[in-house]
Amino acid sequence: MRELYQEVILDHNKRPRNKGVIEEASHRAEGHNPLCGDQVAITLVLRDGLVEQVKFDGQGCAISTASASMLTEAVLGKTPEEARALSHAFYELVTDHASSEIDYGELAALEGVKDFPTRVKCATLAWHTLESALEGKGA
Ligand code: ZN
Repeated sequence: MRELYQEVILDHNKRPRNKGVIEEASHRAEGHNPLCGDQVAITLVLRDGLVEQVKFDGQGCAISTASASMLTEAVLGKTPEEARALSHAFYELVTDHASSEIDYGELAALEGVKDFPTRVKCATLAWHTLESALEGKGA
């Protein structure tokens, strides 16, 4: 398990980035992973076709919290299409094989969950929730 909990994951879990709720969000969604009990809410502001602000809130295990924290940094300033493409690439990273066309940055630290199938849902929860938010569900 030590390999799974790399330092960058522990750091994001201890000091989550962009945690909270954007009250004036243009898009929002909530997600739940019953297998682990993780809960996450994503709020974001889309302006001029870009993710201008994004925050996550909720509680869960270290993997779900770190993934959500990294997500907020990774999708900031992207178009919804770019954010969706990154989400799909992230799913590939943690289930199968990483895309060679994507610079995963810190997200690569989560690749180890593919050896722990029960944790994949922890890692992908925030990303599924982001996609729901971008689709306007629950906005
Ligand atoms: Zn979890």
